[in-house]
Amino acid sequence: MRLRNVPGAREEMIANKFVINEPAENKGRWRDVFGNDNPLHIEIGTGKGRFITELAKQNPDINYIGIEKFSSVLIRAVEKQEELELPNLYFLRFDAEDIEEIFEKDEVDRIYLNFSDPWPKDRHAKRRLTSRRFLARYKNFLKQSGYVAFKTDNKSLFDFSLEEIENAGWILSDVTYDLHNSPYNEGNIMTEYEERFSEMGNPICRLVARY
Ligand code: SAM
Repeated sequence: MRLRNVPGAREEMIANKFVINEPAENKGRWRDVFGNDNPLHIEIGTGKGRFITELAKQNPDINYIGIEKFSSVLIRAVEKQEELELPNLYFLRFDAEDIEEIFEKDEVDRIYLNFSDPWPKDRHAKRRLTSRRFLARYKNFLKQSGYVAFKTDNKSLFDFSLEEIENAGWILSDVTYDLHNSPYNEGNIMTEYEERFSEMGNPICRLVARY
């Protein structure tokens, strides 16, 4: 993703009430942050936040956390949330490499990965959010009844993900190489990247994985 430096973005993140600055302090206590016992769904690599914001609007009885490593992108998501003030949506400026530090066993009901960075070089494969290394991390806090939902237009990354998921012993379902022309498209919420790439004519791949 090309990043524009947005002056003051980092400072604004730190001060914003919808951004949790010390997320590790809430490990095992996210229900206290939201003030209820509702299910918790997270998106890793949330970018400008359109997807998770729309979900939070549609599902007030589900709690949502959008995780993004760059302030300069996340600020756009936070600006929207400042207008909407949805009580079931928070953001973290956080690198998912350390994600196990912030969620306790069985604390998360669903993980969304949308248009995750492909890290095309083999030597960077372990940084891909669908790599076996990340799957092992997710297992430490994703409920067994939950799942990971992944969308991308990058076929190599998608095929890599299918392999990693199977090799990790997870169960695949709802696999499609053309989401928008599949039955799984019902209720689909487009992300910023999804809109851009499908306008370019790229089919969108999607899968669901459970362990
Ligand atoms: N999900 C959005 C969408 O579909 O429009 C943004 C997609 S963009 C290609 C990928 C985003 O994931 C970027 O904003 C990037 O900064 C973020 N990201 C990549 N690796 C991450 C990590 N390890 N932790 C948190 N965010 C990450």
